[in-house]
Amino acid sequence: MTNILDFLPEELSKEIQPLFRVKQICQWIYQRYADDFSQMSNLPKDLREKLSKIYHFSPLKCIKQEQSKDSSIKYLFELLDGLRVESVLLPMKEEKFDAEGKRLAHAKFTICVSSQVGCRSGCSFCLTAKGGLKRNLSAGEIVGQILWIKKQHKIPYERRVNIVYMGMGEPLDNLKNVAKAVQILSHNDTLAISPRRQTISTSGLAKQIKELGEMNLGVLLAISLHAVNDELRTQLMPINKAYNIASVIQAVREFPIDMRKRVMFEYLLIDGINDKIEHAKELVRLLNGIKAKVNLILFNPHQGSIYQRPSLENAVKFQDLLSSKGVTCTIRESKGLDISAACGQLKEREGGI
Ligand code: SAH
Ligand code: SF4
Repeated sequence: MTNILDFLPEELSKEIQPLFRVKQICQWIYQRYADDFSQMSNLPKDLREKLSKIYHFSPLKCIKQEQSKDSSIKYLFELLDGLRVESVLLPMKEEKFDAEGKRLAHAKFTICVSSQVGCRSGCSFCLTAKGGLKRNLSAGEIVGQILWIKKQHKIPYERRVNIVYMGMGEPLDNLKNVAKAVQILSHNDTLAISPRRQTISTSGLAKQIKELGEMNLGVLLAISLHAVNDELRTQLMPINKAYNIASVIQAVREFPIDMRKRVMFEYLLIDGINDKIEHAKELVRLLNGIKAKVNLILFNPHQGSIYQRPSLENAVKFQDLLSSKGVTCTIRESKGLDISAACGQLKEREGGI
């Protein structure tokens, strides 16, 4: 049996004809959140029976969920082979009504998805790195996280969510399946989530950034930079030995990006390590000439971690320096901190993979 979420509608149409049947099936799956062929009442019975012998639906089983005080919700999913990954639903804006109860604005959501079980990049601050890489997720397992969460929260088809590939794993170490997930999610017959609503976050695999650029998918890029000199970056992120800062920055400069958009640089502030004003100044220099926005993240401590979280005051000083030099910069709110939202932390508490 294969996961039907692994396929683009064009691929399904090689197996299922005529074409309008594929459209009907996609409507059932992506718009009406069906999870069984028996629910597809406008399909002939023999076709339903035939398809149910070939395909299964989302293979995810949610085994734990936790709501944070700031209302983000973290899910722990079990895959068919028993391995586990996490996803997070981040409410970005509440819905708004006027005095008569007329809706003025819809609620907005971002969904953070995992791309691998574990990760082999080995960053010293990251819990996901601990067990190494177990395996890549298939495109369908990535799509399934979004579909499951949209269904669970009754987020209607028409409400597009933003996707960030910032959960467990290094998306560009699983480029083929992640690119396919982007294409499936953005297809008009599925969820129609534009690539411009999808951000791929990477620890800086320069070669794959180039490959992703050549695919011209139209996705947004986020770079986890975290340090401004190679010595420190290699300490924090061993992947820097293979792709140093200069090579990452060069790959970003060549990456095709929508004129109206920017490349996001994530900078994890770790107390006393990379959070000094000299570091901020050097960051300004590095980003010179790039349409960048910086997202400062306060290190989220976990059991056994050797690093400390810096004070918000320090983070604001860092931010002020960047802003004073004209670099757009935000401090990531501690969304989900009380439910340990940094990658890998819910899974770790539940006893690992
Ligand atoms: N592998 C990709 C995407 C997943 S990690 C990447 O590294 O970009 C998503 C983000 O979570 C990264 O910016 C990462 O640095 C950050 N992160 C990892 N551990 C963290 C921790 N303990 N506290 C805060 N952020 C963390
Ligand atoms: Fe992998 Fe990203 Fe964690 Fe580094 S921060 S170990 S690249 S998931």
